[in-house]
Amino acid sequence: MSDIIQLLPDAIANQIAAGEVVQRPASALKEMLENAVDAGATHIQVIVKEAGKTLIQMIDNGKGMSMTDARMCFERHATSKIRTTEDLFAIRTFGFRGEALASIAAVAQLEMKTRQASSELGTLIQIEGSEVKKQEPVSCPIGTSISVKNLFFNVPARRNFLKSNPVEMRHIVEEFQRVALAYPEIGFSLYQNDLELFKLVPGKLSQRIVGIFGKSYQGQLVACREETPHLNIHGYIGKPEASKKTRGEQFFFVNNRFIKNNYLHHAVANAYEGLMGADMQPFYVLFLDIDPSHIDINVHPTKTEIKFDDERTVYAVIRSAVKQALGAHHVVPSLDFSY
Ligand code: ADP
Ligand code: MG
Repeated sequence: MSDIIQLLPDAIANQIAAGEVVQRPASALKEMLENAVDAGATHIQVIVKEAGKTLIQMIDNGKGMSMTDARMCFERHATSKIRTTEDLFAIRTFGFRGEALASIAAVAQLEMKTRQASSELGTLIQIEGSEVKKQEPVSCPIGTSISVKNLFFNVPARRNFLKSNPVEMRHIVEEFQRVALAYPEIGFSLYQNDLELFKLVPGKLSQRIVGIFGKSYQGQLVACREETPHLNIHGYIGKPEASKKTRGEQFFFVNNRFIKNNYLHHAVANAYEGLMGADMQPFYVLFLDIDPSHIDINVHPTKTEIKFDDERTVYAVIRSAVKQALGAHHVVPSLDFSY
């Protein structure tokens, strides 16, 4: 008899986990943006080079980390966000798995500077493929700055699998926009190779929408609001004439997380019936606030699908809220009495 089973070394285990969490530069950015929001940042800056393939840098002014935490955050299953099983059912943060930074650090060259308000000096840490290369005190602003360089430098198969820069950049902009839409009270900026793509000042949701999608949406947005015992809806829909032939400007957020759901998209589209051509897509940014016990919260962070207990009711509430909003703004065709 011989024993052959061994525990995998951390670096390999992290790299395997990374395969799930980090598919492309945009997925690393999503995790970093969510961490910055969780850290209470009021300003978040993103700098990418070569569509994030050589650099994704995120700078926030959140609460920062202590010297010990600056090292701990790269351990797998290390998190400050939950402690007990009960916490798992009352999650108020984006993160809770403690997997993201460990995964990113396993497949990139990462440098982080972080400082808490209570410390005079911050911490600089450099990690390459899960291996700590350097850790030392550094003077830096309050908050956290993380640079992810050469993603997949040690996983050539993955690196070769990345799409062209325009495609990867589109994914980055998408993730950026989703978080920026969900948090209009936070300032965001995005730079690509020193070019400023977005500078979004803190403000109201309607201002954030115009900041992201352009001035053409000014005067084209209709407020949408509905309150029911288990589900509240708020946000904006576009007037029928603001609809476009292409998809891409339709956003649902459930408890501030972006989700994709074709069935619920149909609820909105259905409410516009008769107001625009069948081949047109309405603009919408709708926030659904729902009791977490009515949704499956333990969905994987990279997944944008979500399971509702009662999808039909959600459908009906959305459809009625959109119809009402369109009606209240007199964009529903009125009866023609001229004959
Ligand atoms: P999770 O977000 O699931 O906890 P992560 O791997 O994304 O796991 O982060 C691990 C921990 O590192 C977080 O729980 C948090 O305490 C800390 N952290 C990560 N990013 C930041 C940040 N930008 N500012 C402050 N703390 C951070
Ligand atoms: Mg996280």
